[in-house]
Amino acid sequence: MNFELSCEFFPPNTDEGAEKLCEVRQALRALRPAFFSVTYGAGGSTRNRTFEAVIKMQEEGGCDAAPHLTCVASTRDGVRAILELYRGHGIHRIVALRGDMPSGMLDPGEFSHANELVAFIRAETGSHFHIEVAAYPEYHPQATNPAKDLEHFRRKVEAGADGAITQYFYNADAYFRFLDDCARIGIGVPVVPGIMPITNFVQLARFSDACGAEIPRWVRRRLESFGDDRDAIRAFGLDVVTALCERLLAGGAPGLHFYTMNQSAAVLAICDRLGLVH
Ligand code: FAD
Repeated sequence: MNFELSCEFFPPNTDEGAEKLCEVRQALRALRPAFFSVTYGAGGSTRNRTFEAVIKMQEEGGCDAAPHLTCVASTRDGVRAILELYRGHGIHRIVALRGDMPSGMLDPGEFSHANELVAFIRAETGSHFHIEVAAYPEYHPQATNPAKDLEHFRRKVEAGADGAITQYFYNADAYFRFLDDCARIGIGVPVVPGIMPITNFVQLARFSDACGAEIPRWVRRRLESFGDDRDAIRAFGLDVVTALCERLLAGGAPGLHFYTMNQSAAVLAICDRLGLVH
């Protein structure tokens, strides 16, 4: 199994943001990433911006560009058109997700869960796309229980996913337990840990509450104690996340997927300490 680094971005919504993202990508190429991925607003809210960002990255070359694609509030015809668009531009990697129903949108669309999207992509495009799906070592916030969540993860893999990227977490044990549980029920695809650098406590706390990622109490308390001291937050965050990555790598993680928030400095600092900058 190859070790793969990857970086995730959100699609910029201004020309200035797009220019800055170009610089960020340029800097992150020092990691020799396997792919750069671009998020997709559930319900299609970023459809064109995701598409533009992905095509630009693909044209730049150097590493694969992988669009995220959510299926909530979508139709089969709509998804088919997007797949064709990407295929026509030589994209051969995709991150397939359900997404969350956007507020105000009432029509749930023709897909209920990500396993249906994966099956649809396979039915429409065969083996053209390398498909990544989401995994949740600390369990998805809507999961009724851990065993069912794992079973639902297996359904995505059985539908044709080649690998998974996890929600971010700061408890390495949750990841290793999750891998053990996957192995126990015969899930053999690589599960790459998603890594969220810590640079902004308020934002991190908001995200974590929404997506069900636990910030361990000792980390939360230390971050709270720094108040507005962003340098202290960054320095402590760098120590915590580097130590997490070291444990994951020592335990055999098949790669690292960085949630960059369209910034390069924190990711580069972590990878520099890990000896992963070329
Ligand atoms: P699913 O795998 O469908 O799971 C959702 C919930 O339904 C889980 O609780 C699961 O246990 C349950 N479930 C699954 N299958 C079934 C079934 N067949 N029957 C009954 N219950 C089932 N969101 C975006 O909007 N845009 C993005 O670009 C984006 N990128 C992401 C990238 C990564 C790596 C990750 C980890 C998350 C990303 N998300 C993104 C967030 C994601 O869309 C949400 O977490 C969403 O709530 C679930 O998506 P999923 O693909 O995991 O859904």
